[in-house]
Amino acid sequence: MKIIVLKFGGTSVGSLEKIVKVTKIIISYIKKKYKVIVVSSAMSGVTNELLSKTKKIAQNFPNDEKDVILSTGEQISCALIAGKLCDFGYKSRSWLGWQLPILTSGNHSSSRIVKIQKTKILNYLKKDGIPIIAGYQGINNDFRITTLERGGSDTSAILCAKFFDAEKCIIFTDVKGVYTTDPNLIKNAKKIEKISYEEMLEMASLGAKVMQPVSIQEARLNRIEIDVRSTFSKMSGTLITKKKDILSKNTIRGISFTKNDAKLTLIGVKDKPGIAALIFKPLYENSINVDMVVQNVSAGGRETDLTFTIKLEDLKKTRKLVENNRYIKFRKLIVNRNVSKVSIVGVGMVTTPGVTFRMFRALAKKKINIEVISTSEIKISVLINKKNLKKSVEILHQEFKLNNSL
Ligand code: ASP
Ligand code: MG
Repeated sequence: MKIIVLKFGGTSVGSLEKIVKVTKIIISYIKKKYKVIVVSSAMSGVTNELLSKTKKIAQNFPNDEKDVILSTGEQISCALIAGKLCDFGYKSRSWLGWQLPILTSGNHSSSRIVKIQKTKILNYLKKDGIPIIAGYQGINNDFRITTLERGGSDTSAILCAKFFDAEKCIIFTDVKGVYTTDPNLIKNAKKIEKISYEEMLEMASLGAKVMQPVSIQEARLNRIEIDVRSTFSKMSGTLITKKKDILSKNTIRGISFTKNDAKLTLIGVKDKPGIAALIFKPLYENSINVDMVVQNVSAGGRETDLTFTIKLEDLKKTRKLVENNRYIKFRKLIVNRNVSKVSIVGVGMVTTPGVTFRMFRALAKKKINIEVISTSEIKISVLINKKNLKKSVEILHQEFKLNNSL
């Protein structure tokens, strides 16, 4: 069987008209002799609306019941797609996570798919049915409904591709693919033809919102090729694939950024073993994600300064946790809420010397001050003043020739 998984995101099924459009896309693949498995998100905005209901009615709404509510968005969109396909004369039906079932483990609201039972779907495909599977949901060992992390229907689609051994997984979304940087900020941003899992994972984790990072990790582990393209355009999209299948003269594939970060500096922290762990323990316990961390070499060997960044929305809580942490001592806490992180990403930098230098030189030429630097094998991130964000991305986009060709 030549199986293909087609996944439609929230905006793609955002209205009844759009759902009709989606069914036509599905039919076009049936006509190409594919056995089509569809995975859908909820109509855009629906999951948020459901979430706000749980928040309005109770301060501590239980997570298991939250999943029961949040999973209903997909039930609507899937039934609408299946219903319209039937109306067009095709055989189709919706499948909720528990009906297959899609088995998950882990906590509510951040469960992970461990297995998808294939029998029912395979039988249905053999009889020329078009199954429409609800993304973002499953059931656990206790037969409770679970959801994956927000945006998790990407992951559902990729794992469907894995379990059903699909030839391809196409993610239909509201953008034409993955861009060298956000086209809303930089007009010259170019659509990338091919990007490696590793690069895409960095781009997504660093702020490019095209796909959910966990889903790319799953695709990488299972070697599933993903085609990201627009529901509303015939243009080819971006292929996310193995590094070795990509030929490109560009060292840097893309530039991503975050807009709302905050930087905290603890001045005069005792320089002795275990201190950093004591600072970060309460943040971990409160699920606050720490991003960049730098500790200065202490001059006299007794005191040091420690700087780290977090999401701006976590600032209030973090500040309290640091100030009330009785296991640590410091002289002063400095907070900067006007920072942004800009990152250049590319597997090519592993083999190309001078990338760091070129990045810093380009920023220096524009008199942009770098506040914190962090690197991994395939990315370099700098923290800068938020007011310089656009200028920085622009200059780096030019420096690494992303305006031209890919
Ligand atoms: N509907 C879910 C959400 O909004 C899942 C998804 O869209 O992928 O997070
Ligand atoms: Mg989504």
